[in-house]
Amino acid sequence: MSITKKVLLIMLLLAFVFVGANYYIQKEIIFPTFSNIEEQHAKANIDRVEELLNETINQLNRINYDWSAWDDTYEFVESRDDGYIENNLMYSTFENLQINLVYFLNKEGELIWGEVYDFTQEEPLISSDEYITDSLESLKPYIDSIDLNSHSDDQFSKGIFIHDNTPIAFSIRPILDSEGNGPYRGYIVQGMLIDEAMIEKFQNQIKLKFKLKTLETSDISGAPSERHSYLINEISDTSLEISKNYYSNNRPILTISTQVPRDITLNGLTSIRYALTTLFIIGIFSFVIFWFVIKASVLRPISDLTKQMLKISKNKDYALRSDINSQDEVGLLAKEFNHMLSIIESGNSELKEAYSRIKSDHEKLLKADAELHAANIKLEQLTVTDPLTGIANRRCFENKLSLEWSHLKRSGQYLSIVMIDIDYFKAYNDHYGHPAGDHCLKQVANILSGNTRRPKDIAARYGGEEFILILPDADIYGAQKVAENIQKNIELAKIEHRTSKVAKSLTISIGIASVIPSDKNSIETLIHQADSALYQAKHNGRNRFEVAHDLDQANKTS
Ligand code: GH3
Ligand code: MG
Ligand code: MG
Repeated sequence: MSITKKVLLIMLLLAFVFVGANYYIQKEIIFPTFSNIEEQHAKANIDRVEELLNETINQLNRINYDWSAWDDTYEFVESRDDGYIENNLMYSTFENLQINLVYFLNKEGELIWGEVYDFTQEEPLISSDEYITDSLESLKPYIDSIDLNSHSDDQFSKGIFIHDNTPIAFSIRPILDSEGNGPYRGYIVQGMLIDEAMIEKFQNQIKLKFKLKTLETSDISGAPSERHSYLINEISDTSLEISKNYYSNNRPILTISTQVPRDITLNGLTSIRYALTTLFIIGIFSFVIFWFVIKASVLRPISDLTKQMLKISKNKDYALRSDINSQDEVGLLAKEFNHMLSIIESGNSELKEAYSRIKSDHEKLLKADAELHAANIKLEQLTVTDPLTGIANRRCFENKLSLEWSHLKRSGQYLSIVMIDIDYFKAYNDHYGHPAGDHCLKQVANILSGNTRRPKDIAARYGGEEFILILPDADIYGAQKVAENIQKNIELAKIEHRTSKVAKSLTISIGIASVIPSDKNSIETLIHQADSALYQAKHNGRNRFEVAHDLDQANKTS
């Protein structure tokens, strides 16, 4: 994968992580904060309703205290004086106090006087005995909880009870004299109906819409069961319902519920959307700008440098240079790359020069070697060749004879030598001149070469106008045959020799010796025998050959 693709991939990954993290933070941290604030606000509203109810009960309890500690009330319970009723227990009195229920009870809890008012109707709503009896039945446990013998201001009961599906705030106080000394005379019960009209009044008072739902003791499901817990229902995207149970005397009596608009959440959502959109646009801009900057400043120079390197390594053209000259690491890399190319280029030209020098030296050496080789061959030939006639010289003859002697000594075969001397050659020279004599020597040498055809046969110039042949594996008869052929060919050559005393053309005399080489004889003896035979041939008239017969005898005499 190219570095450009890698960088793009990393950037996309980072963008993805950034968007994901941002979304997560907004949704899981910021948005819940808005919701939390909203919930706290809603709970505070419910708490205000609860406090309002408590305050209403407490206020009722305080009014009831005043009535219960009033001496006229103390006496009324005893005397049941109509004056007290006329002067105090008037509709307007309770309307002002917004007290709907007023019951006076004796110590046994039996009704002495009671009235129920409906201020919306401007006359008592229910003054039937049935309503009072039923409501007193509901209040009986609270009445019974008051101990009339304790003589304490703490002896009272207050709260809310439900009657005819309407919550009624109540206060029950024992009746005693203002000094607090007299015995309790009975109870005074005051109650306040929390009906629709009262709820509306409350709503205007605390500026909050709420609902109260009475709870049957068996019907507390669907409402918060814990005393201090709240139930939150999301009715729609724009509103929230929160509810809480109201407890009276440790029993859930009412469910207070209120709907709150989700303004905070909605505003929060709008803010989050705005923030996300802004971040997204900024992110896109940053991404594009970063991409172009990194591409122009890093990726393209690296890509160009790589292409340049590939081109150089492909074409082996070290004269090319990178034209990147930025001041960053890539620029430094390009600079060092160019420097390295210069070193390679100069090294290359030095190498080329050195190579051409070595090549030319090598060619010279090869030439010199060939010349030396040719000279050596020539020299070698010179050392073994007679310069005038071109056949083997005496030194070569001696070496070859020694080798053949050793070889034939092992194989036990004959070795023959034939010694040749031109007849009256001094006279030839004298008559025809020395150069002609030389030419004559060459002719004779050619004839001798022509008659020594076997690979191991050798014809050599022995000295002056004397020649000698080595004939390995040839006995005396073979040697004689060779001698005869030579004489015949000399004769056929018809080399003119007017000053010869034996013929009109050139003739030769030949001495032949033959032996099986062994420790009993020697090379010197063999040569001596051939020489003696030659001498014999000269003595016997020349132009002939003689054979040394008694070699072993000769060995003994020499
Ligand atoms: P013969 O052997 O028949 O007894 O008589 P001859 O005249 O050949 O006697 P000898 O062998 O003594 O003479 C040899 C002569 O060969 C002497 C010399 O002038 C001649 N000679 C020796 N070497 C050369 C040479 O290289 N070139 C020429 N042209 N002549 C040579
Ligand atoms: Mg001679
Ligand atoms: Mg001679």
